[in-house]
Amino acid sequence: MHIKEINSGKRHLAGMKYRDFREWVISSLGLKSFRADQIFTWIHQKGAVSFDEMTNIGKSTRSLLSEKAVITTLEPGKTLSGEDGTVKYSFLLQDNKTIESVLIPDPPRLTACLSTQAGCKMGCLFCQTGLTGFRRNLRSGEIVEQLYHMRRSAEERISNVVLMGMGEPLDNFDSVADALSIISEDQGICIGTRKITVSTVGLPGGIKKLANLDGQYGLAVSLHSAIQSTRREIVPAATALPIERLRNDILYYASVTGRRVTLEYCLIADVNDSIKEAEALVDFARGIPCKINIFFYNPVKGMHFERPDENTVSRFVNYLYPRCPAVTLRKSRGTDIAAACGQLGGRRDGVNFVN
Ligand code: SF4
Repeated sequence: MHIKEINSGKRHLAGMKYRDFREWVISSLGLKSFRADQIFTWIHQKGAVSFDEMTNIGKSTRSLLSEKAVITTLEPGKTLSGEDGTVKYSFLLQDNKTIESVLIPDPPRLTACLSTQAGCKMGCLFCQTGLTGFRRNLRSGEIVEQLYHMRRSAEERISNVVLMGMGEPLDNFDSVADALSIISEDQGICIGTRKITVSTVGLPGGIKKLANLDGQYGLAVSLHSAIQSTRREIVPAATALPIERLRNDILYYASVTGRRVTLEYCLIADVNDSIKEAEALVDFARGIPCKINIFFYNPVKGMHFERPDENTVSRFVNYLYPRCPAVTLRKSRGTDIAAACGQLGGRRDGVNFVN
């Protein structure tokens, strides 16, 4: 039903920014501005999925809306719950592609991890999404709808959003920028820009574009090595944005937004866990307002990588501790349901990929 509706040229309302939505309601539907606000509130604050739920909107206006628009397009698929409370959702897109999103409880926070693409072009070697290839960019509505479905399912207020699911957000910049605006809109679900984090491997020009958006969004950089040759091996996109240029972009982001940047570092045995790598990381981080999140490689089917042993981890982390301002050894969440970093595969059945 959704596919036909969208293909017939109807507007997808969940993905329209507040200002564009108001303009469309007033100029294309001929309605008053207060109606636009009411409808926007129904969709984004109250989570309405059908026009019939909009009880303070007259019947003729609701019919007009259904003629011209749809609210949602994602079809919820399987949901898997992990032992630590993490929940993985799969969604069917209107062209039958599948994406996944993750809800992570960490009281008092409840964080939604959203996908921005079906698949990914970046090909990071430790990541299931990268190994499955790129299918397409998500539209802004498909990004925000993941959040709304999770809110409905959890029946709880979602406090934080991270764009850290399937895909490279800066490779789908325009849709991501619209989605960020919708999610942080006062008239909508109104999640503060400081509670929203965009995660990237770093693409030429991408971090600067993000810095120049309205709002102090958090930035997490998937670094994984501060040595260019190692990084290029595990994050092929590093070829396009070498480590020194990436560092300059991070500094620019921190100065424009006034935000501390998170450097993500996935420890992989015998790849990036040596003292030489730790030294390079300390040099890289020096002078950047940042925190470093260390986590372990999460098993991905078909990959030969392994987690480092405890001694190697302690040596690495102990080298960093006195030299870097903030270092966290993060526990992976949702590994038993293949919902942890690097494990999202976009399978319709949500099947666990772990070996
Ligand atoms: Fe893409 Fe992120 Fe996976 Fe790299 S880690 S392949 S950028 S989804």
